[in-house]
Amino acid sequence: MSGPATEGARPDDARRHNRGAVLRRLHREGPCTRAVLAAELGLNRSTIKAVVGELAESGLVGERLPTQRSGAGRPSLLVLPAPRAAVVLAVDIRVDRVAMALVGLGGEILGRCSWQLHPGSERPREVVTRVIESARMLAAELGSPVVAAGVSVPGVVRWEDGLVREAPHLEWTDVPLGELLTAGLRMPVAVTNDAELGALAEHTRGAGKDVDDLVFVAGDIGVGAGVISGGSVLRGADGYLGELGHMVVRPNGERCHCGRRGCWETEVGAEALARALGLTGRAGRGELLAELRELSADPSVTSSRLDEFTGWLELGLINLVNLLAPRMVVLGDLLGSVPDSVLASVEREVRAGSVVSRAVAHTSVVRSALGPDAQLIGAAELAFGPVLAAAE
Ligand SMILES: [Zn+2]
Repeated sequence: MSGPATEGARPDDARRHNRGAVLRRLHREGPCTRAVLAAELGLNRSTIKAVVGELAESGLVGERLPTQRSGAGRPSLLVLPAPRAAVVLAVDIRVDRVAMALVGLGGEILGRCSWQLHPGSERPREVVTRVIESARMLAAELGSPVVAAGVSVPGVVRWEDGLVREAPHLEWTDVPLGELLTAGLRMPVAVTNDAELGALAEHTRGAGKDVDDLVFVAGDIGVGAGVISGGSVLRGADGYLGELGHMVVRPNGERCHCGRRGCWETEVGAEALARALGLTGRAGRGELLAELRELSADPSVTSSRLDEFTGWLELGLINLVNLLAPRMVVLGDLLGSVPDSVLASVEREVRAGSVVSRAVAHTSVVRSALGPDAQLIGAAELAFGPVLAAAE
């Protein structure tokens, strides 16, 4: 987020800053009147008029009458982002599928597609080729140019150039994904891990919109965490932060694909969830979700079958809250579909068991508000970052 708008700095800087602040506000929160913009950003009405005028001239915003009138008198015009003024490509690569979308300024999804992947058998270059072809098709259907792309990968990704160091469940090692996609798509491409993008999405448009310190736990076949701290994404050295699924919680536990035993992922990942539910370790996401839905409908059986799983979830989250001090933990992917009773128990235990949670007057534990689209929306926001900065 940009800081407060200014009226006292050098005129050019102040103008640019104010343009950025107005554009970001409209992109994140949607249409509003000039009066609301002025009040929220602490600018006077003539400044807002000038800034909106400039943005309208660049085609980035428009103004129209509200569809619903409030009160008597002349209605105030709504200022709204122009979706096609800046369209980005969002790509969410999962272990078993790829989802893609074109997203306009303001966050509207203007087109989308997806296809299945066969875990372990998809060669990176084939996936890259299909992403490039699908992007061309989506852009042709929309008829608008696409200015940048953001990509989510379930793995360890170097922030600087989008090199996928390890994506174990895809069986990818040292894949120069950022480089290949930048060359193929002929636009700036940013690649990062799925949990970071879940966190960014929930912070921008989801469950943690007004929460500047949050952790998103992406719990699928692998488990990772994305961290927003002080309103910014935490990335760590070279962008490798996020492998919280490999914190060891049970030293003599199950063997993890990372080489160690007893990683948190082996107790709360999809395979562990399948075991807890009495399904085989190879159960697909659909099967797991159906089983969770059934359990949610019958709370009496939930607690006993998922007791142990819930315990491991609680243990890991207490560690994570003590380590990262979030005000909110957002559970995404499969973990976002656990029954209410599990969620309530987890929140209770985190509150009771974490010194940090007690100190911040309780960390809330909630489901993702964006569901399966979280990473896709995060990938779009990643791409919008430099686009919005350039539009200032
Ligand atoms: Zn591990």
